[in-house]
Amino acid sequence: MVERICTEQRRKCCGVKMSSVPEGKKLVRSLSGLRMVPENGAFNSPFSLDEPQWVPDKECPRCMQCDTKFDFIRRKHHCRRCGRCFCDKCCSKKVALHRMCFVDPVRQCAECSLVSQKEMEFYDKQLKVLLGGGTFVVTLGTSEKSETMTCRLSNNHRYLFLDGESHFEVELSRISSMQILTDGASPGENDIHTYTSLLDSHYVSEGATSRASGMLLHYKPMGSQDTQQLRVEAADDKKAASLWLAAMHKAAKLLYEARDQ
Ligand SMILES: [Zn+2]
Ligand SMILES: [Zn+2]
Repeated sequence: MVERICTEQRRKCCGVKMSSVPEGKKLVRSLSGLRMVPENGAFNSPFSLDEPQWVPDKECPRCMQCDTKFDFIRRKHHCRRCGRCFCDKCCSKKVALHRMCFVDPVRQCAECSLVSQKEMEFYDKQLKVLLGGGTFVVTLGTSEKSETMTCRLSNNHRYLFLDGESHFEVELSRISSMQILTDGASPGENDIHTYTSLLDSHYVSEGATSRASGMLLHYKPMGSQDTQQLRVEAADDKKAASLWLAAMHKAAKLLYEARDQ
């Protein structure tokens, strides 16, 4: 899909005032609408999705949902999320689509608008929790030594920052597996959320409602091909830590889904 940079972005074209474009971001316009994206594509959020290719007009004489034939009166519309072709009735909802960075809600089919609505909760709630951070006891590798650290997601969503006496960071795209550990003497299979290998998008199990108490990560530090293990466990404020872990769990699901598309 061809994008052109909105050259008028510093004025008030497109209805977006200059003051509302944060530093390091730019406005681009595609067929589907106006998007606000990082100036440098290398800083794209790992949660973001590419815009789909639209199904070419000549390949869709009928609505792909209700089979209505298109003509001068029944016009076709493309769903901005899946790129498929629908009649107005089957593609009438305009829903926020944060993962494609659209400034305004965009037209989506019924199936896609449900998914996007669920994701809105992640952006409204969990993402804020992740950016706010939590306090954990952190153990690197199989070391005996652990340290109390604040763990938070970076503003561009690409890193986990761990700050205590030392500082280090984990790049989300270099996490190969994530396991959320839950409270309980002998966690059954249902109490363990395991994402083996986010890198190849294979996902094992998810379940239960028990409270998250820790997380086990495997990742490759930048510039290294060796896998490192990182264990974080709730420190004093167990409730806040559990919320943060639950948000991380949801983030992992989105990442997993993104890599599976
Ligand atoms: Zn239809
Ligand atoms: Zn769709």
